[in-house]
Amino acid sequence: MNQEIIDNIAAIHDRITRACAQTGRDRSEVKLLLATKTVSSDRIRTALQAGHTLIAENKVQEIKEKYDALKDIPHVNHFIGHLQTNKVKDLLKYDITCIQSLDRKELAQKLHQRLKAENRTIEVFIQVNTSFEESKFGVSPDQVLDLVKEVALLDTLKIKGLMTIGLLSTESEKVVLCFHLLRDIQQQIIALNIPNVEMSELSMGMSGDLEAAIAEGATIVRVGTAIFGQRPTSDSYYWNENGN
Ligand SMILES: *Cc1c(COP(=O)(O)O)cnc(C)c1O
Repeated sequence: MNQEIIDNIAAIHDRITRACAQTGRDRSEVKLLLATKTVSSDRIRTALQAGHTLIAENKVQEIKEKYDALKDIPHVNHFIGHLQTNKVKDLLKYDITCIQSLDRKELAQKLHQRLKAENRTIEVFIQVNTSFEESKFGVSPDQVLDLVKEVALLDTLKIKGLMTIGLLSTESEKVVLCFHLLRDIQQQIIALNIPNVEMSELSMGMSGDLEAAIAEGATIVRVGTAIFGQRPTSDSYYWNENGN
């Protein structure tokens, strides 16, 4: 069971290395993030002990449940789920380095308020809804710039890049369009040179589509299923409005 996790991670590294080679990218430009929703702390520990230390959860409740079991082993936590404003205070108790799912002004303001009170800063990515599915979270592509400008004014929030969940489709051309759009938006923002805005990170690509994401410039691929196996809960529980 645990050996399987280690083997699966090695296989994902091979896929990343091959995708980089095929598209002329340096392997060191692409980080692997382990999406650990529904995965037990024991199994996460196996991955961490093997040296894979960037992990992310989607729900504050799950972070809370696993926190004590993992706190003795060094790792970096990102948050990649929909964040309700009433959970902000709770989330900030758990040593999160980066919130990848910042998708609205109201949430930015709430985070800023809390962080100010605690006298600290946090890294954020802006989550963009590149698939134009109404049920999906993320700011719509035509509103990204406004949101980035607003967040840039809040000195507790350090924008590092963009995140998207591409269309889940077997039609690879459509998936590529999502990733391409995210890169386009990134380039537009870089050209504006906004103070307090760094745009070096593109978090995109998952178990099924990481090659396409790397071809379009991903710097972080987020992988769950291909490492930990199928999840018992459907992704709609985590990804859209029905999941609340
Ligand atoms: C679950 C999840 C992933 C990983 O998806 P897999 O298809 O299991 O690799 C990536 N990003 C987000 C936001 C997720 O919730």
